[in-house]
Amino acid sequence: MKIYLRAIPPEGLVIEKSIPAEEAGWGDKNFEILSPIHLNVKAVKAGDELCVSVNAKALCGYACARCLVEVKIERSDTFDIYCDINSKTEFVDISEDIRQELMLAISSGIILCKPECKGICPNCGVNLNEQQCQCPQDLKNPVVMRMDDDPEDKPRRLPL
Ligand SMILES: [Zn+2]
Ligand SMILES: [Zn+2]
Repeated sequence: MKIYLRAIPPEGLVIEKSIPAEEAGWGDKNFEILSPIHLNVKAVKAGDELCVSVNAKALCGYACARCLVEVKIERSDTFDIYCDINSKTEFVDISEDIRQELMLAISSGIILCKPECKGICPNCGVNLNEQQCQCPQDLKNPVVMRMDDDPEDKPRRLPL
């Protein structure tokens, strides 16, 4: 996305744009973008800096970190980009900055289908949210069992 400085009025320039998810170049990540990415961009000149506020909305699909069920989230991420400009600057291209900021926002955090997700049994593969399995306790994932009695859900070392 190129922003031409001469097109920016003193009060700032607002650009609305939708880009197809395929065009964003997401590479191989732990999420999918399921809708076009809708961008609302506001660019304001401030001396030798161009301040660009970006809001990006998109529907994203994740796999629950515990049970792997698909989770769809309507995201809205806001971030600012600053570019150095001078009297000779004709335009700035913020496509790569937007891509990097968005990638960071969308891929950060642990996504669960629900806060109390019980995960899957590593022995028989049953989704423990849907049914209890008959596996002996010591064959079940110790992490999952600890999560049940640890509301803070801190990562811990597994007993050997
Ligand atoms: Zn889950
Ligand atoms: Zn089981």
